[in-house]
Amino acid sequence: MAMPILPSIGIEKLKKGEAEVTFTVLGCTSCDDETTREYKEGDIVFEDDGEPCKKCGKKVVIKQIYVDIVKKQK
Ligand SMILES: [Zn+2]
Repeated sequence: MAMPILPSIGIEKLKKGEAEVTFTVLGCTSCDDETTREYKEGDIVFEDDGEPCKKCGKKVVIKQIYVDIVKKQK
C-alpha cells in the first residue's frame, strides 16, 4: 500500500546536479541511539524498523521521514 509520505520540496527548486533524497531517522526505544539512512519502501513513521538496535538490541522505531537535497556525484 502506497502512502503519501511528505510534501515534496519540488523538482523545480533543484539546481543542476542536485537530487531529492528521502531519509529515514531511526531511534532506539531503549537507549536513544539514533541513525539516519536512506528511505526504503515500506518505512512508516512510528512503525518498527524490524532491525534491533546495534548498541543494546532493543526495538528500533522510525522517528521521522524527511526529504533533503543532496549533490549528485558524477
Ligand atoms: Zn538501543
